[in-house]
Order: sequence, then structure tokens, then C-alpha cells
Amino acid sequence: MTAGAPTYDLLGIGLGPFNLGLACLAEPLDDLRAVFLEAADGFSWHPGMMLPDATLQVPFLADLVTLADPTSRFSYLAFLKDVGRLYPFYIRESFYPLRREYDDYCRWAAERLDCVRWGERVVAVEHDGEAYVVRSATGRSWRARRLVLGTGTAPRLPFAVEGPALHSADYLDRKPGLLAASSVTVVGSGQSAAEVYADLLAEQEEHGFALTWVTRSPRFFPMEYTKLTLEMTSPEWSSYFQSLPAGRRAEVQRGQAALSKGISSQTIDAIFDELYRRQATGGVDTTLLTATEVTAARWDGTGYTLDLRHTEQDSTGQLRTAALVLATGYAPRVPDFLEPVRDRIRWDEHGRFLASASFAVDHAGDEVFVQNAEEHTHGFVAPDLGMGAMRNSVILAQVLGREPYAVEKRIAFQEWGIPDRFREEAPA
Ligand SMILES: Cc1cc2nc3c(=O)[nH]c(=O)nc-3n(C[C@H](O)[C@H](O)[C@H](O)COP(=O)(O)OP(=O)(O)OC[C@H]3O[C@@H](n4cnc5c(N)ncnc54)[C@H](O)[C@@H]3O)c2cc1C
Repeated sequence: MTAGAPTYDLLGIGLGPFNLGLACLAEPLDDLRAVFLEAADGFSWHPGMMLPDATLQVPFLADLVTLADPTSRFSYLAFLKDVGRLYPFYIRESFYPLRREYDDYCRWAAERLDCVRWGERVVAVEHDGEAYVVRSATGRSWRARRLVLGTGTAPRLPFAVEGPALHSADYLDRKPGLLAASSVTVVGSGQSAAEVYADLLAEQEEHGFALTWVTRSPRFFPMEYTKLTLEMTSPEWSSYFQSLPAGRRAEVQRGQAALSKGISSQTIDAIFDELYRRQATGGVDTTLLTATEVTAARWDGTGYTLDLRHTEQDSTGQLRTAALVLATGYAPRVPDFLEPVRDRIRWDEHGRFLASASFAVDHAGDEVFVQNAEEHTHGFVAPDLGMGAMRNSVILAQVLGREPYAVEKRIAFQEWGIPDRFREEAPA
């Protein structure tokens, strides 16, 4: 640690959308000295899935700052004004920016911050009795009183797999190899699986490969997007969920796939329409299987043999494919660099972070905070961009002991749990 180096009030590790939002909200606060360390040399949001016509799954108001501070200079509208595209956006009349636009917007915001240190992959976090000392792979280190962990999630693989199989996170980088294959199989049930299948279906006529989509889900189900359901993306629903016993939370979550793991109905219908067009104009060589779990994939140097188990028939089968795309989602991860300070952190019986209502995971409740690593305690809203600004407002309030940005306690018409006024012992 260089002599005279400052001790920061807050240090963010990782600069995905959530910690980038925190940096943008912290920037105007004179009483907070913050720094953010990012392993990459610049902002790049899910480059492997930056499909040309993909859109955000949330409205533009779920940008980095607006739901906390509509006057912020880091808002999506301020970006559009600055890059001269506000009027086209106004005329386009869609709340849903292209994924590429959101990536450009985040890069634009990141470039306007001087608190970001790029190319700094954190490898160790220690505590010197007074503050955290954070060291990166470059050998540099920083000292800070509080940490915010925003290192994101990691691609999830349902089974160990050898050979050239890829996760959807690497789709666009590896796409040329897929187009050259004689057959491609996509495994998965969510938006990424649907987008990869749709993109390959569009390429199939030219490249001629056989195309298969296999999902364990009982159907290709749509993301639930009706307004009373969307009200669950709220602080009061998350507080209610946090109040449930851990076992009940897991049970509730198992029944909530349609809230965060479904496919946008536009994508589903576009796929059907393309299949219909192809059938009417010469036929289409594709297989779509539901309620079918791929339990293993064996690579023999020329292709994969997939073991299939039908979850309703309880029957088994095998599928041969030359190329394999696992669009099987992402999982939260506990970064290894926390090992030296494990004893300062609260863990549940599964070794996961035990986050408080203010997203703190340390025993003191105000030193180490998490972004998008608390789905098991706070619910399906954890990875939702729409809740980023609120979570950051709560974290800043906890750090500063005041609310620099108003934190709404209630936003929904409906209530969750038996309201106090209806409880037996409540006075008439
Ligand atoms: C293709 C795709 C599309 C999505 N679209 C939407 C959407 O439209 N709406 C929505 O609500 N949600 C969406 N999500 C879900 C979610 O919002 C995103 O995953 C979001 O990127 C999560 O942000 P994050 O800040 O938690 O992490 P990430 O974006 O994963 O960023 C984590 C950052 O931490 C850095 N990092 C990791 N380890 C270290 C280290 N040791 N030291 C320093 N830096 C490190 C990484 O380089 C990375 O930049 C999407 C997810 C995917 C995969």
C-alpha cells in the first residue's frame, strides 16, 4: 500500500450495470469518497449475446439512475440527448431500448466517471483491523472502509462437458463454428435459449444444418409480464419474501420461474412465425422438445451423444448432435478473493451470503454489501435492472446514515402477507 494512499469510504468490486449505477449515484455526493475496480479494460455488457435486434427486457426507466434520481446527468434520456438520438427515440415510441443501445449507454456513463479503475481484477481482500485492503492482479492495492461486491453471476453448466460445447454467454464469438456444423442442439428454457435458437433458425436456410431445441420445462413458457405481477418487482414484495422462513422461500421460488426465467412472448411468437413461413416455403428441418432433460453429453471427437430423460413420460433416449449450445443460465458465485475475510461475513447453511434488508453481508451490517447475489433471500428481483437504482439508494443510505435518494417503502397497490389490520389480535 503506497504511503499516503487515501482510505476510501466505499470501494466497488466489479463494474457491471449494478455497481456502475452505484458509481453514478455516488458521484454527486461530496461526503462520499468512492472507487470502483473492474477487471476488464472497458465496459462491455454480455458481448456474447449482443444480438442485433435483441431488446432490454425492462423499460428504459430501469436505467442506471432514473428511478433513484430522475434529474441525474447519467440518465438514459441524458445519454440520448448527448448522442443526438433523443428525437428518434421519442418517435420510435418504445420503452424498450435495443440491448446494444443499453451497452452503449452504460459505456457512455462509465466514461464520464473518474472513480473507475479499469484492468484491475481483484485477487484478495484483507482487513487490517480498521479497514479493508483490496489487492488486484496488477499488484496495486486500495484501502476502504466499505466494500460493494458487484462481480455478477457465472455461466451455469448442468453437467460436466468435454469438447467444443459452449455456453450461450459465448454464443456470438463461437457462432461461425456452429454455422459450419451439420447439426446444432440448443439446450435451455429461457430468453437466451430462445434468442440463440431464433438466430440459428434465421441462418439455417443458408447453412443447411439440422437444428434442435431441447428444454426441461414442460413448455416454452412466456415471461409473465402483467401489471399486477410486475408489482412484485417492489421493495415491499422483497421485504415480504425476506420475512418468510428459508425453506418456504425456496418453495416459493420454485414456483416463480415465469417471473424471471421465461421467454418474452414476442420472441416466442417470432419463432413460430418463422417456422410457419419456412413450412409454407419449402419446409424446415428442426426438432423442438419440451419436458426433456439432457442428463449428460458425451463428446467422441466428432460429435455429442446427449442422454435424454423425459420428465413426464419418465422415458429415456439419446440424441446425436455435432454442436451443442448450453443456454442454461447463470449462478451467483462467492468470489475466492473473500477468503481472507470470510469470518467477517454472514453465511447461510448452504455457504451463500446472508444479506440483510440493506444488502449488507457482514456481521456489523454496514461494511460489505452485495449486488445481485441475494436472490435466495430477497427474491427474483435481485438480477432485475429495474431494482438496481433502489438497491443502490438503500446501500448509500446505509453507508451515509441518511437518504441521499428517497427510498420508496411502498410502490404497489396490492399487499403481501396478512396485513396487521386483519390479524386476529388486532383491535376492532
Ligand atoms: C444476455 C443477458 C441479457 C440480460 N438482459 C436483462 C434485461 O434486459 N433486463 C434485466 O433486468 N436483466 C437482464 N439481465 C440480467 C442482469 O441484469 C444482468 O446479468 C446484469 O448484467 C447483472 O449485472 P451485475 O452488475 O450483477 O453483473 P455483471 O454484468 O455480470 O458484471 C460483473 C462485472 O464484475 C467484473 N468482475 C468480476 N470479477 C471481478 C474481480 N475479481 N475484480 C474486478 N472485477 C470483476 C466483471 O468483469 C463484470 O464486468 C440479462 C442477463 C443476460 C445474461
